[in-house]
Amino acid sequence: MGKDFKVIRGGRLLDLASRSAADRDLLIEGGEILEIGPPGLDAPEGAAEIDASGTLLMPGLINAHTHGHGSIGKGLGDRWTLEHLLHAGPWLNANRGLEDKQLSTMLNAAEMVLKGCTATYDLYFEVPMPTVEGMHAVAKGYEAVGVRAVLAPMMADRTLYEAISGLLEAFPEAERQRLSEMRASPTEEILKACRALLTDRPFESARTRLALAPTIPLHCSDDFIAGCRDLAEEFDVGLHMHLAESRVQAVTGIERYGKTLTAHLEDVGLLSPRFTGAHCVWLDDDDVHRLADNGCAIAHNPGSNLRLGNGIAPARRLLAKGATVGIGTDGSHCSDHQNMFEAMRLASFVSRIVSPETDDWLETTEVIAMATEGSAMALGFGDDVGRLAPGARADIVFLDLSNINFVPLNDPANQIVHAEDGSAVRSVMIDGDFILKDRQFTTINYAQLCRDAQAASERLLAANAEARAFSGRMEAYVSKFCVGLAQHPYHIHRWGGDAPAACPGPEKEARP
Ligand SMILES: [Zn+2]
Repeated sequence: MGKDFKVIRGGRLLDLASRSAADRDLLIEGGEILEIGPPGLDAPEGAAEIDASGTLLMPGLINAHTHGHGSIGKGLGDRWTLEHLLHAGPWLNANRGLEDKQLSTMLNAAEMVLKGCTATYDLYFEVPMPTVEGMHAVAKGYEAVGVRAVLAPMMADRTLYEAISGLLEAFPEAERQRLSEMRASPTEEILKACRALLTDRPFESARTRLALAPTIPLHCSDDFIAGCRDLAEEFDVGLHMHLAESRVQAVTGIERYGKTLTAHLEDVGLLSPRFTGAHCVWLDDDDVHRLADNGCAIAHNPGSNLRLGNGIAPARRLLAKGATVGIGTDGSHCSDHQNMFEAMRLASFVSRIVSPETDDWLETTEVIAMATEGSAMALGFGDDVGRLAPGARADIVFLDLSNINFVPLNDPANQIVHAEDGSAVRSVMIDGDFILKDRQFTTINYAQLCRDAQAASERLLAANAEARAFSGRMEAYVSKFCVGLAQHPYHIHRWGGDAPAACPGPEKEARP
């Protein structure tokens, strides 16, 4: 007889195939779902009974792309493009101690749990490069809340001003000096830091894993990308990279490499089943094939792509070609929240404005599968999570069916994607244990977390005030140069509005 049995009784279980939610009991042993059956399911004597009446049970949502460091910067930018955000990076992330690093991931994790998310792929940025103690602090933040996380230090061996040719020259002479003095760490030093981190993994577990995130092709030398590729192979960890996120990047990629960013990554040997590409907006059909044929996963971040004006990723095309597609929120410094329900809703909605053909639109059942099973694959968790079935971990969200979003209950899949906003999340379980019970955390002191986050934000804003003011004064030059660059010809169109005059009209998907 095993031990640590639990049985969840009285809930209704989401079934995507039938778009229904029948009464089902779940038997759990040691955090794993053992059996699912009709009410009255047999359970070993002494099994703990959990009353789920009045709730809809669904797998925990999985956030395929976030940045824990962004949580403290929530709501700071308004009309920022991606390039504005990267330009603001030095002050947004400066002066953070180990406590700030741990606090920012705790805050990120807490928001995810309150909104029904149980696992995430976090590209955490330390200035100027990752450290063992920094990433351990980041891990502690997630572990304190209890969320599963794949932690990938986000790294570059070039600055924004080196990545986008011509940008530096766009600034006034006097200020150019300060920007050109910003230096990324040397390639070999960053790779050494990665090796140290991968070697020293006290938190390696089913909850916390490591990966590597050379952040953006243009910001990483080929030697650095290849170094990350080899380390990932050696230590058997994932690789995560922002790919073809903005039009500026797509245009600059052709200028630098003579081919698309995705084609370049294929040449460097980065595309493989361990690779997750984030955003993937400015892909042509050949790029879609490259990602699918190499067994890559994509983190689709429709909210961030809209917020930063990057356009709409070809999610349907990627799915149709067999790529794994998960859904993410991106960091709160660029999409302001960690609400996977909203990310799902936006994934559904943006799929409807690129084609009048309804077969091309994402069904709500597909969207939920992307945000659970798809994201689980992108994180490298396979089918251990992202589904409620025997053999899977018991990562369960209990949605309150008396919440107005589910009254009346007509089609649970449609209502999860098109009506739910996180307010119906009553409880959240990971590995069979509640980390949120009746909207109260069982793992952390939420009131203390809020006080600490407010204090950290105020202290960091004060410490970074001068750098922020300088960045703000330079913002207009970034706009002028990058908005101009974004209108250079490119062979596909991924914005919702009309193509700019300089861009070709009818969409042409072939490689240049
Ligand atoms: Zn990102």
